[in-house]
Amino acid sequence: MSYPTYRNLIGGEWLPAKSGKTLLNLNPADHTDIVGAFPSSHAEDVELAVAAAKKAYATWRLVPAPKRAEVLVRAGILLQERKEKFAHDMTREMGKVLAETRGDVQEAIDEAFYVAGEGRRLFGVTAPSELQSKFAMSVRMPVGVVGLITPWNFPMAIPSWKLFPALVAGNTCVIKPASDTPLSTYNLVQTLVDAGVPAGVINIVCGSGSGVGTPLVEHPDVRAISFTGSSSVGSHVGQRAAATFKPVSLEMGGKNAQIVLNDANLDLALDGALWGAFGTTGQRCTATSRILLQKGIAAQFTEKLVARAKALKIGSGLDESVEVGPQVNPSQIETSASYVEIALAEGAQLLCGGHALTEGAYAKGTFFEPTVLGGVTPTMRIAREEVFGPVVSLIEFETFDEAIAIANSIDYGLSTALYTKDVNRAFAAMRDLESGITYINAPTIGAEVHLPFGGVKQTGNGHREGLGAIDFFTTWKAVYVDYSDKLQRAQIDNQQ
Ligand code: NAD
Repeated sequence: MSYPTYRNLIGGEWLPAKSGKTLLNLNPADHTDIVGAFPSSHAEDVELAVAAAKKAYATWRLVPAPKRAEVLVRAGILLQERKEKFAHDMTREMGKVLAETRGDVQEAIDEAFYVAGEGRRLFGVTAPSELQSKFAMSVRMPVGVVGLITPWNFPMAIPSWKLFPALVAGNTCVIKPASDTPLSTYNLVQTLVDAGVPAGVINIVCGSGSGVGTPLVEHPDVRAISFTGSSSVGSHVGQRAAATFKPVSLEMGGKNAQIVLNDANLDLALDGALWGAFGTTGQRCTATSRILLQKGIAAQFTEKLVARAKALKIGSGLDESVEVGPQVNPSQIETSASYVEIALAEGAQLLCGGHALTEGAYAKGTFFEPTVLGGVTPTMRIAREEVFGPVVSLIEFETFDEAIAIANSIDYGLSTALYTKDVNRAFAAMRDLESGITYINAPTIGAEVHLPFGGVKQTGNGHREGLGAIDFFTTWKAVYVDYSDKLQRAQIDNQQ
């Protein structure tokens, strides 16, 4: 079959990888459907891209921020016009259903308009000086060339969370998309080019983590790295970046808990659990992978959840009636299958699902049944480690305090949800759950772009996307203007 071949964007030119090699992007619902060939790049391509970004930085940093923001407004409008096409492309390369890929493009649209406003808001502070006739202020400066490394599960939204604030703040960018889903990031980059981003300000280099990611992290002219992906790769990226003193923003894995108390609206909690656990085929960093059930409702909730999980329609995300698409690649299927085995070996019960689907319409893709595991205890590996597939564990508890302790007992801290009608418990949970995001009476997934996004413990290293991204992509400069016409020594001349 014929398929398009894509190139890297470096200094405004679309160039093949120096190696001449390509990687194939396959439709996870049908591996015979080749979405395109993308460059298999290496350090020499990264070298060119960083040089182009460095050159472009000299002029881009001087473009007034409100003007830089106008590019984002145009990009947002173009994304609105292209939404349906880009959603279709994304479902084809990534698998998630069309309603969700439309949501992914919409998130980039929301981010464009939100961040465009920052162009007129890159506020600093003025402060009184301790000395007479001296003015003190602080301004936000761009960082320089920034390297952006992104995962495959939100292949347009996550790149937009990084690119848009980086650009409005005056940085130039080299982005490395995930090799499973480069097309959506290409679509975003092409849109920015069409919106008027000058040559070299944005560069995209496609390839593997070791081929492109490592040289980008280690490059001396790259001043900061923003990474989203797994905690194991993030740890490596953080350590390599530290070697050259680069600031690095790490957004990583999750093992998110939904707690359901006896007084909860059970139907609402069921809707939330189903969407949180099986939306995006469980492949969200915020996916619900533990459901903590208070004993009084556990049996009833479990029975209903299993019935609804069994009824979910699985198939190609391009079919509007499908509710659960494929997993992104065979390795994700192996992970899901192996975690089911680990859970069963540790004493959990398989309540539904548990297997890859390989027959008939599923034979050409990577599908896994929505899976519910019962009888899970907080110390089992299935209760503690990220699966990143449609596999959810049910854990029962007696008291509210016990639920909070179980929710907090893991190494991750991204998203948590509590279903209850008790306002006191809701506020206690908001205070006590160790996670970057807490939902009350809503599922663990569903972040909005203008709030801080990120987590604690092994989920993140303290930075935030959304509200907070500008802090990462700018650096503070303190400026003092002495208009006294004499030497004034701070801490000395104003003391008796
Ligand atoms: P991954 O860690 O395998 O890869 C992420 C990116 O890093 C990819 O572009 C990959 O090519 C690159 N990479 C791999 N090795 C590298 C290296 N040595 N140096 C530099 N870059 C390297 O993650 P994934 O499988 O693409 O995505 C799934 C993971 O992402 C899950 O753990 C999920 O929880 C996490 N995630 C987190 C968030 C968040 O905001 N917290 C959002 C989405 C996904």
